Amino acid sequence: MAVTRTFSIIKPDATRRNITGAVTKMLEEAGLRVIASKRIRMSREQAEGFYAVHAERPFFADLCTFMTSGPVVVQVLEGEDAVKRNRDVMGATNPKDAAEGTIRKALAESIEANTVHGSDSDENAATEIEFFFTPQEIVG
Ligand code: GDP
Repeated sequence: MAVTRTFSIIKPDATRRNITGAVTKMLEEAGLRVIASKRIRMSREQAEGFYAVHAERPFFADLCTFMTSGPVVVQVLEGEDAVKRNRDVMGATNPKDAAEGTIRKALAESIEANTVHGSDSDENAATEIEFFFTPQEIVG
């Protein structure tokens, strides 16, 4: 299996509860390595740009309000089959549906405040990494 990269966000519900370390520990235990990380406060413009694919969804405005409601930690993760590995440890979007042992089952508050974002394809991972990081900030 090839070593690839994915993009992760530790969301405002997690920074508010001071559990960014607990989330990162679960990512690392799943075989992912943090090769870039920074804590930022997303602007409304950044959130709307990042989630542009969801612009027509009914929850778009609420999602952008939530993602700008506090700091987030954006990360680049590396590992074997990183996109799938990360999606597996994240768990289902709605924590009520998330499997035991996943981040969302253990830590998420709701379908919106669900603690982590993870890219859903290698192509989107590359786009999302570029959205937040310069090549110099990524140290594998
Ligand atoms: P993900 O890939 O599992 O994060 O899920 P999606 O790409 O479908 O949705 C993006 C994000 O929008 C989710 O992680 C949630 O934070 C939020 N979201 C998804 N569905 C809903 C919903 O029905 N209501 C609200 N308020 N937020 C949602």
